[in-house]
Amino acid sequence: MSSRRNPRNFQSNRIEPMPESLLPYARQWIEEEDVEAVVAALRSPLLTTGPLVERFEEALAAYVGAHHAVAVNSGTSALYSVLACLGIGPGDDVIVPTLTFVATASAVLHTGARPVFADIDADTLLVDPDDVAAKVTSKTRAVIAVDYAGQPCDYDRLRRLCERHRLALIADACHSLGASYRGRKVGVLADASVLSFHAVKPITTGEGGAVTTDDATLAERLRRFRNHGIDRSWRERRAEDDLAYDVVELGWNFRIADFQCALGLSQLRRCDEGVRKRERLAKLYSRELGPIPWVRLPAIREDVVSSHHLFVPLVDFAGCGLRRSEVMEELARAGIGTNVHYRPVHLLSAMRERLGTGHGLCPVAERLYERLLSLPLYAGLEQEQVSIVSRKVIETLSRNPVSWETGPAVREG
Ligand SMILES: *Cc1c(COP(=O)(O)O)cnc(C)c1O
Repeated sequence: MSSRRNPRNFQSNRIEPMPESLLPYARQWIEEEDVEAVVAALRSPLLTTGPLVERFEEALAAYVGAHHAVAVNSGTSALYSVLACLGIGPGDDVIVPTLTFVATASAVLHTGARPVFADIDADTLLVDPDDVAAKVTSKTRAVIAVDYAGQPCDYDRLRRLCERHRLALIADACHSLGASYRGRKVGVLADASVLSFHAVKPITTGEGGAVTTDDATLAERLRRFRNHGIDRSWRERRAEDDLAYDVVELGWNFRIADFQCALGLSQLRRCDEGVRKRERLAKLYSRELGPIPWVRLPAIREDVVSSHHLFVPLVDFAGCGLRRSEVMEELARAGIGTNVHYRPVHLLSAMRERLGTGHGLCPVAERLYERLLSLPLYAGLEQEQVSIVSRKVIETLSRNPVSWETGPAVREG
């Protein structure tokens, strides 16, 4: 779909076609071992519902330290499945941060429940636990915390809040596989944690997702739910020489294929290495861009290790006398791909129409949204490229010498 024909497509509007040599804002990290693993799976007897799904799930559960992992075909279906299997539906409210990918909220809507948007903390850009607390009502059933850019939320505070009000705590950890909080890995910090293996996420299966949890009942429901609600897997039935099955509750086909899990297994072995590589690059960006008066870097708390999924400086474009779209366009002309993560979800048309949301609901996210700019960050990026991108960003922002030299009157963010 051409963005030019759709004026509501805010992100790519007016941006030039990408040159061939563009550094993307994100990119998968594929090695020969990944290719070999997928090829071997393609040559095996079962392309789907074979043994690699379980092996991937076991490896994931072991990696994060959870009792169970259930792999599905996307992070979105993982989110939706968790909500549905927890029995969340019409009449229920689920609190979600507004600074997230649309899927966090649309998964809630697809169950028939209502997403209630919480604002973010201005320093970390993570959901503000005080605003979550303020939005709990008798209809609230769950809170979805989003580890924006790879930094885990304040799970101890959120857990206390959820325990007090008897709410389920779900982690949307689609950005944060490999991260940790107070010495515990993402994947065990909430009642259920949702991962995405989309191409640009910390590890990939092309498309894919998973739920990790210590709750055996939830894991069993999730396994049924991803396979039409069928009570026993095909392999269990074959092993028992009885292929008959029953469907107790309706489900979907949210299955992931074996060759995807082959890729996932191979990728998972390099998950920590990917985090370390991105961390090194993020530090370099911080050194180059941190001192710039028109730029503020979101805080990363002392008690966490981020997965450094995204590098998102907050840029005072207006203060520099520029529009973000102009800056993105100029960077694209220099071969530098950028992105905006995200337009606050409560401002998206579908949410406004269904929920009556609009400006003023989450003022911090609305204000900081104007400043978001995701710069290229991925394992295969070279240190030299980080320096080139940083210099080009500084050059672009300093185009208007007067405002550049005066600097902002107050360094607010
Ligand atoms: C990517 C993402 C999702 C959805 O994952 P898919 O695998 O693309 O369906 C959900 N939430 C967040 C925060 C994401 O970044």
